[in-house]
Amino acid sequence: MLPKYQLKFKTFELPSGKNIDLTRMTIKIKKELLLLSEQEENKLKIIEKLVKECSNKDTSINKLSLADVFFAFFQIIILSEGNEFEFKFKCLECGKENEEIKINLTEALKVKEFTGKNLQKIDEDLYIQFQPLNFYDYMKIKEKYSTIVERKYYELLYSIKAIKYEGKVFKDFSIKEIEEFIDSLPSDLYELILLKYEEVRDKVYIDYILKCKFCNKEFKLYVEDIDDFFV
Ligand SMILES: [Zn+2]
Repeated sequence: MLPKYQLKFKTFELPSGKNIDLTRMTIKIKKELLLLSEQEENKLKIIEKLVKECSNKDTSINKLSLADVFFAFFQIIILSEGNEFEFKFKCLECGKENEEIKINLTEALKVKEFTGKNLQKIDEDLYIQFQPLNFYDYMKIKEKYSTIVERKYYELLYSIKAIKYEGKVFKDFSIKEIEEFIDSLPSDLYELILLKYEEVRDKVYIDYILKCKFCNKEFKLYVEDIDDFFV
């Protein structure tokens, strides 16, 4: 009987601070993913499957944050396909089509760690404690809401772990309860909460300078919705 090829695992530290063991994708998984990408509208499901298949069996994806899953996805791609990603873009300056521009994924990938573990001061009476946005909560939000305003609003709601109001701490509330509370706030306070959330949240994103081969003009490539861009 032929031996079984033993995949080696490599340990990575995730944006949330947890560790994960990842390995390269096999041909079997690659075929399954290609098939899935033809039938499946929701690109997050493809990312979910890839991370599930190429991580250590003990990994529970339901405990990972969105940034964790995006980060793991990138590392599997780099382990499996290498660092170079080919990309096409049309230059806004000279109008020419740049074919096969190479993006160095390790350089392009930026990671922001979560820094909101403690209660954050919003104003004299209101403090909020955040938590990293769970991958499956993000999936739910993206399926249900189509506008950016709605998505940002629910991403924030799902990322609130505790509230301290007039000296009293509240935890373990439902999404409906937190929604009612947030909706009752004056709009300037809501803006402050959004700013604070943006400051402390964990995030994996692409930030890269593309250069036109024809006129040398540089463009910034900035992507947060990894699922829409890379799958
Ligand atoms: Zn150009």
